[in-house]
Amino acid sequence: MPKKSEFIHVNPLFARPGEDTLAPRYTLGAGQMLPETAYQVVHDETMLDGNARLNLATFVGTWMDDQASRLYSESFDKNMIDKDEYPQTAAIEEYCWKIIADLWHAPSPETTIGTSTIGSSEACMLGGLAFKRRWQHARRAAGLSTEKPNLVMSSAVQVCWEKFCNYWEVEPRYVPVTEEHPFFDGHELGKYVDENTIGVVAIMGVTYTGAYEPVAEIAAALDAIQEASGYDIPIHVDAASGGMVAPFLQPDLAWDFRVERVHSISTSAHKYGLVYPGLGWVVWRSPQMLPEDLIFTVSYLGGSMPTLALNFSRPGAQVLLQYYLFLRLGHDGYRAVQQASQDVAHYLAHGIEEIGPFELLGDGSDIPVFAWRLKDGHTDNWNLFHLSDRLRSRGWLVPAYPMPDDMSDVIVQRIVVRNGLSLDLASKLLDAIQEETAYLDKLESPMPVEGQHPGFTH
Ligand SMILES: *Cc1c(COP(=O)(O)O)cnc(C)c1O
Repeated sequence: MPKKSEFIHVNPLFARPGEDTLAPRYTLGAGQMLPETAYQVVHDETMLDGNARLNLATFVGTWMDDQASRLYSESFDKNMIDKDEYPQTAAIEEYCWKIIADLWHAPSPETTIGTSTIGSSEACMLGGLAFKRRWQHARRAAGLSTEKPNLVMSSAVQVCWEKFCNYWEVEPRYVPVTEEHPFFDGHELGKYVDENTIGVVAIMGVTYTGAYEPVAEIAAALDAIQEASGYDIPIHVDAASGGMVAPFLQPDLAWDFRVERVHSISTSAHKYGLVYPGLGWVVWRSPQMLPEDLIFTVSYLGGSMPTLALNFSRPGAQVLLQYYLFLRLGHDGYRAVQQASQDVAHYLAHGIEEIGPFELLGDGSDIPVFAWRLKDGHTDNWNLFHLSDRLRSRGWLVPAYPMPDDMSDVIVQRIVVRNGLSLDLASKLLDAIQEETAYLDKLESPMPVEGQHPGFTH
């Protein structure tokens, strides 16, 4: 293959008289470029990015209304860490996590502790760090070793937990998913936990299938373990997607601080929180769950304010967008928006089931996300990677990928329904899936399978 050109060719129509029409790609140019030309180059380079509206692979929000865009453009210079310069943004951050603590039934949202983050990954790291530090304090106080911490979770966790374990030197203990236990439910948990277990992760909205892990059942299994062995093991709920769905669509499901063993919960505001990328939240049941020695202070109106974060500088605008949505939508608005997504998920899931060759893994009744597999023995001529390719050629991004251990021989395909995928657009997608399935089913010999690789699934 020829090497990618070292230069970007600027269309002479955009370059101004006398301006260079070649811009170096990998080195800093010697001279300046007119702002109009530079804008056009960057604008054109990103034209090949996909159409976010047809991207059914991502959980991350891609649309906000005009007022949100106005707020965003008024506030994208605000630095979240600079609480002294932007005290009102700092105050609004606090309103937001208190609202969320209340949504998640914290016993005392007024006196608990939480923070915004850049996303769920950072929020999960902070939840995991609190577990590790608490465990270390307890072990040291008892004169015991702190050499070998471990964290127990499903093999279907999002990659941020693998990162947490890698970066902070905690042994990950994965409970495999199986045909009998397709998600982590506390089954045989006693085999995985011991005195070195800093905590257990439960996921509200498994990225592979959209299913909620039963937090209360996992907690009950840990209660039984505590009774038998004395280990008091806390739960962090990674509610990256479900944290902003369950309070509205499944208000009676006790998955949050109503379950005593849940110490902390995190969510991605840029998923079903409906904010542009760059915001997550983490909240603890009470300040006792967050060791004080993890907290730093920054100056704030001549005084000081506690902060807990991996980053220092970070955009503050998304926090304002979250508060805007809380005011604009309220309970009823969030419920209506999430219900609309769930209705579309049900429509698509059952429409896909009716085509014939597919078997559903859920129908979007937890978060509006569902996956399906090809029925055993349907065909040897094609697989879901081929269907994914055919749909991609029509602009739709519907990824196929293997399930995690121990089901990695099962290939599934998934749709994430987000706000913006209307019923009308969904019916066009269903037509496309029907037509491409019919095309593949007419093949008289197998499609090549070399070079097939999973799509982006998180
Ligand atoms: C998306 C996701 C994450 C990571 O969230 P970011 O906000 O992208 O950092 C973690 N856990 C689960 C279950 C997720 O769905």
